[in-house]
Amino acid sequence: MMYDVKGNLKQVIARLPQGVRLVAISKYHPSEYIVAAYEEGQRIFGESHEQELRQKHQTLPKDIEWHFIGHLQTNKVKYIAPYVTMIEAVDSLKLLKEIDKQAAKCGRVIDVLLELHIAEEETKYGLTPDALRQLLADGEWRQLSHVRICGLMMMASNVDDEAQIRREFRLAHSLFDEVKAAYFPDAPWFCERSWGMSHDYPIAVEEGSTMVRVGTSIFGPRLY
Ligand SMILES: *Cc1c(COP(=O)(O)O)cnc(C)c1O
Repeated sequence: MMYDVKGNLKQVIARLPQGVRLVAISKYHPSEYIVAAYEEGQRIFGESHEQELRQKHQTLPKDIEWHFIGHLQTNKVKYIAPYVTMIEAVDSLKLLKEIDKQAAKCGRVIDVLLELHIAEEETKYGLTPDALRQLLADGEWRQLSHVRICGLMMMASNVDDEAQIRREFRLAHSLFDEVKAAYFPDAPWFCERSWGMSHDYPIAVEEGSTMVRVGTSIFGPRLY
């Protein structure tokens, strides 16, 4: 029996205020699930593995907007640059420069988000608040004319403590405001705050998310 993707999708969308976009995270799920969501009108999907994304992009409708949400190795950028809509988890100048280079080769400007690392989990990925400030202060990103920095993305700690999750979203929001004022006051495209997953997206939208990334609540548990 297929998971009730359409019903779940409707329930998630019903909980999103106007102006908050849904990125349906389809990693590890079969294309039939994506088609079911697509038939309900969903157009933005998120994937975290280059090969899986490539296969899905080749076979699924061409008006799908694909967001790359995982850790992206620089040597994989060239494969997704021709078609990806947004790269959400940019956490180094090196990656930003590679995206710029590959986007230039395709004659594109690729939208990206800078990934913040605030959560308590030990992960290698994401910029600490100070690393984010450093990257922007350094200024080299200003020379990159084929990437457009559209905002910040982050994952809150995977905990049950709602107060902690909320604190992390608030910190992310305040960093967004700081960076917006310092570097992007005249850049209307710098407007995205990508936070909120299945277990915390209702809190995320209360804390100013503009883009939630929800997988399990729509497609069910992932089969790794
Ligand atoms: C997998 C993933 C999600 C979706 O997580 P769910 O708990 O299934 O909603 C969101 N963001 C990122 C970066 C992910 O890797």
